[in-house]
Amino acid sequence: MPELPEVETTRRGIAPHCEGQTIQRVTVRNGKLRWPVPDDLAARLEGQVIRSIDRRAKYLFLNLDQGTVIIHLGMSGSLRIITDNAPLLTHDHIELALESGIRVRFNDPRRFGCWLWSESAADHPLIHALGPEPLSPDFSGPRLYRLSRGRNTPVKSFIMDNHVVVGVGNIYANEALFKAGIHPRRKAGRISLDRYHRLAEAIVETLSAAILMGGTTLRDFVNSDGQPGYFAQSLLVYGRAGEPCRACNAVLKEIRMSNRSTVYCPRCQR
Ligand code: ZN
Repeated sequence: MPELPEVETTRRGIAPHCEGQTIQRVTVRNGKLRWPVPDDLAARLEGQVIRSIDRRAKYLFLNLDQGTVIIHLGMSGSLRIITDNAPLLTHDHIELALESGIRVRFNDPRRFGCWLWSESAADHPLIHALGPEPLSPDFSGPRLYRLSRGRNTPVKSFIMDNHVVVGVGNIYANEALFKAGIHPRRKAGRISLDRYHRLAEAIVETLSAAILMGGTTLRDFVNSDGQPGYFAQSLLVYGRAGEPCRACNAVLKEIRMSNRSTVYCPRCQR
């Protein structure tokens, strides 16, 4: 599933091909996504210039002269840039033809993604209640500490809550908790400010490293014949249950939390 670093990498991969371009034609082949693609999407977009492409949490914003297209990649969505006569793929549901001749194709086998139009994206119900971006100055250890007081939620669920901070998906929650030495089941309200400082740092470090790694895959967004290769990362705990901890050699354990795989080191994480 595309996580925040993949979405940011997608943004960086497609933005240079789209920004400043007029949308000439919009083709919706299958509008049955997580929410139906608005019937008037083409009418709203055709003739408009894409001013910029932003990201908020895992949403991409195509900012037009008037209004914004809000795109989510869902479980399996991807965007690619087509500059040649590459044939359509089975799950290419939406295509934007730009004045440069370039086409932007949205592929989504499972159709959990979305393409919505909004006059003012920041006020959209999906967007306005979101917590701060993890890589912005609004996110910090003291914020985690303050919001967690009196909460019995396990810390892993707490940092994956979009109202607390956006974009900490399952893999990154596992990795950051390991780096901070915090047990994923520890109650959020019982963790000291010091440890939240370390956890916030670990979240920033983990996401930044993944985005940096994603930079090496940017060329995959142009004329690729399938999913842009979401990057394989060297992970410390996620996917390594039963293997030795890289810090202390203890055997990593796996538990299920909210039905998601949770891997931790029983010795390093308290
Ligand atoms: Zn360990």
